Amino acid sequence: MIQVSHLLKRFGSNVVLQNINMHVRQGEIFGIVGHSGAGKSTLLRCLNGLEAYDEGSVKVMGVEVASLDPRDLRQLQSKMGMIFQNFNLMARKNVFDNVAFPLQLWHRSDREKRVMELLDLVGLADKARQRVQSLSGGQKQRVGIARALALNPSILLCDEATSALDPKTTSSILDLLEDINRRLNLTIIMVTHQMEVVKRLCHSLLLLDGGKTVALGKTEDLFLSPTKDMQAIVENEYT
Ligand code: ATP
Ligand code: MG
Repeated sequence: MIQVSHLLKRFGSNVVLQNINMHVRQGEIFGIVGHSGAGKSTLLRCLNGLEAYDEGSVKVMGVEVASLDPRDLRQLQSKMGMIFQNFNLMARKNVFDNVAFPLQLWHRSDREKRVMELLDLVGLADKARQRVQSLSGGQKQRVGIARALALNPSILLCDEATSALDPKTTSSILDLLEDINRRLNLTIIMVTHQMEVVKRLCHSLLLLDGGKTVALGKTEDLFLSPTKDMQAIVENEYT
């Protein structure tokens, strides 16, 4: 689904990602984890072409992201939904309008049907006319998820999607993502600094530190026999 090889990314003279290799399989929940400044968001943005890379290759569904012209890139981006820590919603608009935003070119009746289908999926069907600013954090993230799924993407990119939420709300959002992953066979990439999120949800993970790979593989295997470097990061930074 996604193949990254020998990726290198600089900001000016600062190398922020170095020799990154990863393979994300269709239908997998893949975690990109590491502490602040590790390069997680930059890597995620390289995957959907929001950020250019300097060396190496990023292939999504068989195509090299850097080779796409703007029109084809937009087409690819429509297959990759994204959700954020701060939700990035239109606070003064209602839930329906936020979810309908990517569907502006659709016929009204199709749009209404699709939005209600999505709100049903995320458990907010009764909140369609409520203003987003009056919702709880967890409800806002549900709106974010519904909007990200509007165009029926193959991949969902999540950047610290639960970092602004309390543990109970985090858990309910993780349940929802897991349910969506199973039901829609959606590939999910979870960027997070929360190790418990990775342990709970991700099938595989890439652990980054200072733009370099510390660990890569199946979550279960890595936590069963962590390397010293991984252990140091997990213990020092996450407990
Ligand atoms: P956090 O957990 O705080 O979100 P992160 O792992 O997502 O961190 P990135 O945001 O990818 O980290 O940043 C990686 C490095 O790249 C940091 O040193 C950051 O300062 C730098 N960086 C990120 N974006 C830019 C930019 N637009 N211009 C210059 N440097 C940048
Ligand atoms: Mg980040």
